[in-house]
Amino acid sequence: MSKCPECGFKNLKEADTCAYCGAKLTDNEEDYSYVSTYKTSRFLMKVISFSGWIILIISLLFTLGTCSGGSNFESTIQLLFYILGIYLGLTTIIFGQVTRAVLDSTDYLGEILEVLKSKK
Ligand SMILES: [Zn+2]
Repeated sequence: MSKCPECGFKNLKEADTCAYCGAKLTDNEEDYSYVSTYKTSRFLMKVISFSGWIILIISLLFTLGTCSGGSNFESTIQLLFYILGIYLGLTTIIFGQVTRAVLDSTDYLGEILEVLKSKK
C-alpha cells in the first residue's frame, strides 16, 4: 500500500499515480535524506589539493626558468629546491585526492546504511 500525498487515498504498491485524484505517487523507498558528515574535511581537501597544484605549477615554472639560465653552483642549488617544490606539490595533490576518496567511500557506506534502514 502506498498512501497518496495529496488526498491520502491508499493505492496499490506498484501504482505510479493515485487512482482517486491522479497525483503522482513518490516512492517511499527514496524517502530518506543523507547529508555528508564530512563537509568541512571535503572543503579542506579541496583547498589542500588546490594549493598543491599552485606549488607544483610555480615550482615547474621556476625549474624551467633556472634550466634555461646559465649553469653555476647557485642555480644548481636553486634547481634542487624547485624540484623539492614539485615533489611537495605532487605529494600534496595526492594526499588531498586520496583523503577525498576515503571520505567519498565513507559517505557512500553511510548512504547505503541509510537506505537499508529506511527499507526495514
Ligand atoms: Zn490521491
